[in-house]
Amino acid sequence: MGDMKTLATMQAEGHEQVVFFCDRATGLRAIVAIHSTRLGPALGGCRMWPYRDEAEALADVLRLSKAMTYKNAAMDLPLGGGKAVIIGNPRQDKSPALFEAFGRFIERLGGAYITAEDVGTSPDDMVAISRMTTHVAGLPGKSGDPAPMTALGVFNGIKACLAHAFGDDNLRRRRVAVQGVGAVGWHLCTHLHREGAELVVTDVVQDRVHRAVAEFGARAVSPEEIYSVECDVFSPCALGGTMNDDTIPRLRARIVAGSANNQLAEARHARELQERGILYAPDFIINGGGVINVANELAPGGYDRERALRQVAGIRDKVARALALAEERGITTHEAALLMAEERLQGQTAGVAATGD
Ligand code: NAD
Repeated sequence: MGDMKTLATMQAEGHEQVVFFCDRATGLRAIVAIHSTRLGPALGGCRMWPYRDEAEALADVLRLSKAMTYKNAAMDLPLGGGKAVIIGNPRQDKSPALFEAFGRFIERLGGAYITAEDVGTSPDDMVAISRMTTHVAGLPGKSGDPAPMTALGVFNGIKACLAHAFGDDNLRRRRVAVQGVGAVGWHLCTHLHREGAELVVTDVVQDRVHRAVAEFGARAVSPEEIYSVECDVFSPCALGGTMNDDTIPRLRARIVAGSANNQLAEARHARELQERGILYAPDFIINGGGVINVANELAPGGYDRERALRQVAGIRDKVARALALAEERGITTHEAALLMAEERLQGQTAGVAATGD
């Protein structure tokens, strides 16, 4: 673990528990980090990734679990934040036995941590885990693919941004530049197109671009050109870290609102966007539709699509509140989102009434 001082980091960042699991029979090496159970059991996905070493895996699980505390709190879920990482290549090192071993370990945590899909894991892997523990969500036949709900949440959040920036949430003749037309980006385009938005799209997979051009009459640009498209909304739906020193000066958008996790390369980039008059929808609020959907499986009575849809519709108000709070306090929208989550964690509510627009 090199020089990493795990307990000191946990103390500084607020983590409650970090557990290492090793199963020699299946080759499983996993770390579970429970950041907070203040609002309920810690929910967060299980990532499988070929980490260079254990220090890299530990740093990732500590960072990701803390982010889940904020996301779940901001979504008003009765859930804390946690995350798991399995060290390995998802293309080569997977087996049902490995996920069963992981499930046995999760069971030992007694429900303090609930796992789900993430990068490198699939619904099938969740099925293997569920043979050993009930503390798993995202099973086939229940909440299903989270991408459509994530996209719907982003769409609602874009409407809040339009209302805030223009006093009018109509998408007709608004131009939206969508970076990445994968699972979420595609569903988002469907909503935007239906409401009359003009779409500009890019992807590194050309087939997806061609389909978007055919289906939505979108204009296609290269992955580099997307940043400088003159538009009302730039919607990052591909990678993290796309709001950085190189890209921000190129933006010709009034609003940045998309599904990608960790859009800001650094927190200061929220201020750089603000200084340029660009309204930034905090990523962990606008993209919370997926976690709302999966969390619904855990609520009394089990998965209820209508309830999930109502909660996802509430993302509009949450984005609106973050934008209003930022203005009122003279802080960035990213800081406002953190404040909203923190105030819920402290049992208070942030001091701006939900306006609904
Ligand atoms: P995806 O892999 O289905 O789609 C991403 C798309 O971006 C792909 O089509 C990919 O080819 C494209 N892409 C990759 N690099 C690119 C680049 N440099 N330029 C342009 N396009 C590029 O993933 P997804 O599930 O749609 O998720 C999209 C983003 O939203 C990710 O950042 C993900 O972490 C985040 N997110 C997803 C969900 C969900 O429910 N799926 C929930 C919360 C957050």
